[in-house]
Amino acid sequence: MSDSRFEDLPLAEPVLRALREENYTVPTPIQARSIPAQLEGRDLIGCAQTGTGKTAAFALPILTHLANRPQKPKRGRPRVLVLTPTRELAIQVGKSFTTYGRHLKLRHSLVYGGVSQVPQTRNLAKGVDILVATPGRLLDLMSQGHVDLREVEFLVLDEVDRMLDMGFRPQIEEILRRMPRERQTMLFSSTMPPAVHALALQVTRDAEWVEATPEGSTAVGITERIYSVKPDKKTPLLLSLLDEPDWNQVLVFV
Ligand code: AMP
Repeated sequence: MSDSRFEDLPLAEPVLRALREENYTVPTPIQARSIPAQLEGRDLIGCAQTGTGKTAAFALPILTHLANRPQKPKRGRPRVLVLTPTRELAIQVGKSFTTYGRHLKLRHSLVYGGVSQVPQTRNLAKGVDILVATPGRLLDLMSQGHVDLREVEFLVLDEVDRMLDMGFRPQIEEILRRMPRERQTMLFSSTMPPAVHALALQVTRDAEWVEATPEGSTAVGITERIYSVKPDKKTPLLLSLLDEPDWNQVLVFV
């Protein structure tokens, strides 16, 4: 853990107030290492998994930048674009902006596929500062004229390894072509295979590199085991494992 505290970082006061209310006092390592660079306007390449606090790592400096230079939200023209691979992650990121930005008058919109686009376009039409989107639906709404990325100042590419695994590279390229080159870019990925590395270098300029979880970092004394089972067998398997007599304390992550 780092020694610094959120209060020592030059975050906007309304953001610090929200953090106090959430009982966040100490930044996680990725936050401590990446927030100062982002507040200075630097691009960022972060190797970090879910659970490291990566969402706040980009949301807090972005909210601070917006708080320091307020503008009226414009119809379909976001200042911030966060691209995520899945709607679940988009919803989670949206919630984080709601939590950390609750004392700021900012509007965020969510755009993802698999549901009707009508509520999404209605929401965009009311004005948007921060847009959290999956690539496919975003391009659909752009081609219909509901979203215009020409005023994007901050771009976040979240879980890039997953986005590339899901085949979103062409969509990402297309989205990049429709936004200003002059912007601050933050890219996060839990792994850095060559394809992610290449994209990271393509989309950022003079970026700060931050790694939260060194590869293969299983703690000493822990044996990892993988069970390959069909989804409907997961719960019975878990229950039978829990019946093992020599287990006394068990933590289950879902
Ligand atoms: P993430 O890696 O962004 O999915 O965040 C993992 C969880 O950690 C979320 O539930 C956050 O609310 C929480 N969290 C993030 N940063 C901090 C912090 N500095 N102190 C306490 N909790 C945090």
